[in-house]
Amino acid sequence: MSWMPRMKSDSAVYSIGVPLGVINQAPTISLLRVGLIGDPVAHSYSPRFQQAAFDALHIAARYELWQTGADELAGRVAALLAPNYLGANVTIPHKEAVLPLLDVVDPLATRIGAVNTIVHREDYLCGYNTDAPALLRVLAEHGIGEAGASNDDEQWNDIISLKGYTAVLLGAGGAARGAAFALAGAGVERLIIVNRTLERAQRLAADVQQGRDCQVFSLNDPDYLIAHPRSIIINATSVGMQRAGSHEQNVEEAVPLPAQILERFNTDTFVLDMVYRPTETRLLIQSRILGLRAVNGLSMLLYQGALAFTLWTRQPAPLAAMRAAL
Ligand code: NAP
Repeated sequence: MSWMPRMKSDSAVYSIGVPLGVINQAPTISLLRVGLIGDPVAHSYSPRFQQAAFDALHIAARYELWQTGADELAGRVAALLAPNYLGANVTIPHKEAVLPLLDVVDPLATRIGAVNTIVHREDYLCGYNTDAPALLRVLAEHGIGEAGASNDDEQWNDIISLKGYTAVLLGAGGAARGAAFALAGAGVERLIIVNRTLERAQRLAADVQQGRDCQVFSLNDPDYLIAHPRSIIINATSVGMQRAGSHEQNVEEAVPLPAQILERFNTDTFVLDMVYRPTETRLLIQSRILGLRAVNGLSMLLYQGALAFTLWTRQPAPLAAMRAAL
């Protein structure tokens, strides 16, 4: 199934290459349900803007938060087969663990090894990854890269070409996996994966490298980072993320990349922190002090959610309504 995004210059809608049509809703079902599976989930902004999208299109659906521990994951996923469930989003830490629980996984999500969107189709569950195209959409929106022209077989080039760029990817979890495949697919010259757990970074590097000619490196000590011109630094760790109700000290002071290493990078470096709560992370603040352009994860959140919305409903996502609700 082809599902790559088709970006429209008009930001009113954001649709993907699934046939658009009506939701497969039985007449007896009054309220459709969809939600976020993760641990934690209370911090998520997804209910705000997904509910706004359903309301804007007058679809009788409710977006819920489903706090789910690892031992509850299989049961939670199986419950999505009930007739009134559209599907789910999946977040930290289940994006990888959920794959074997699904009936069908989109080829791209299979290759990435992480699913962030589950769609209930007829009597089976299908997994997708919408984080990856959403990331490229954000980079394009900030003028990073050029309109795609490479010949990558996964068609990332439909979004942008990152030829000549070096990407420093912090993290090797579910979000980082999507980012790594997207960046490599868009043709980055060099991809440097930095993760606390080296083996995980090495595994991701090996998976991404397959069949590609970009240089892929893995590190667990950012001190070894060499700053290249035209760098993109992406934080795909949860470092700096504020957990709702948490009493953790100094969470807002936590940085995935120390300032003395950030200082090495040229002012043409673009920093994207996937964390969006708080909206101003320490990484973003330090980057801007150093004169680097830096954005938080809100736009990426919006675009991954818009793609998920279209997969669940087969309707173009009402982006303006979703953005206004963020
Ligand atoms: P995940 O699969 O659990 O991965 C977590 C990553 O963070 C791993 O690389 C982990 O390293 C690293 N990490 C966690 N705590 C750390 C610490 N104290 N020090 C150093 N590294 C640490 O989670 P995920 O699904 O990839 O999500 C990661 C972050 O991205 C979350 O904050 C999530 O909200 C955000 N995100 C945002 C968007 C968006 O649209 N804006 C989309 C997806 C994800 P180890 O491998 O060493 O454990």
